[in-house]
Amino acid sequence: MKTLLNNIDLNEALSGKSNIGFVPTMGSLHEGHLSLIKKSLKLSSKTVVSIFVNPRQFNNKKDYKKYPRNIKKDLKILKRLKVDFVYLPKIKDIYKFKNKIKIKLTKQDKILCAKYRKGHFEGVIEVMTRLTKIVNPSKIFMGEKDFQQLLLVKKYVEKNFKSKIVFCKTIRDKNKLALSSRNILLDRNNLNKAGKLAEDLINFKKKLLKKKNLKNLIFMKKNELKRNYDIKIDYLELRNTKNLKLTDKITNAKIFIAYYINKVRLIDNY
Ligand code: AMP
Repeated sequence: MKTLLNNIDLNEALSGKSNIGFVPTMGSLHEGHLSLIKKSLKLSSKTVVSIFVNPRQFNNKKDYKKYPRNIKKDLKILKRLKVDFVYLPKIKDIYKFKNKIKIKLTKQDKILCAKYRKGHFEGVIEVMTRLTKIVNPSKIFMGEKDFQQLLLVKKYVEKNFKSKIVFCKTIRDKNKLALSSRNILLDRNNLNKAGKLAEDLINFKKKLLKKKNLKNLIFMKKNELKRNYDIKIDYLELRNTKNLKLTDKITNAKIFIAYYINKVRLIDNY
């Protein structure tokens, strides 16, 4: 495994290479990231994993500061997986050049996390279009755990570059909680609670298959979750997986949730 500390190293390492698979991450790697990396190793000739905690996508400075970082452990994991290249850019490597791509969310885009985290997706799209320009991969592997991010990045990246976005399934722990770097910030009790909530919503979605007037059932479920789990919910909504429009039909739809448990914001979809 070769560690690339700047764009000069990266350009030299990737010169003449084709079928590059790229896995962008913010580090504190877990099995969710690992599933993306394994898929890239299988489908690509060379795999680049980046670790970059992107300041521009945090709408809250405190959140950026307390974002878990664990670079030594991450490098050990990546070495064990036999990743070809790990790219550890500095802020200037990403932001020193001008990005010609105009980023403006439409009114339809300003839903779910875009509504509650102002500027977040503009920051994500900014870094993803810049990283795509720098790495120039054939495929970019991203997780369905961040489904709205996936669709927005796909829209901007595939419109402006030849790179294709590959959707990867959400990896969960034994309690059904979606793995996330932020889970480190939760104690055992809250981790269990979040796991129970995930299982609760997975079962709830199964029940919706046979029901009518889903909007009302979801509204009632939201209140029940608030009561039973002592959480603050940003949203609990059923949306179509193609265009993220609100829907009352369960086919091609997912339940999306964002909530705070002990001041830690978690998102998931089922
Ligand atoms: P992050 O380091 O949180 O920015 O995530 C990097 C990539 O890993 C993103 O494409 C995420 O969607 C993906 N990812 C994070 N958690 C999971 C998970 N539990 N299962 C699958 N992919 C995930």
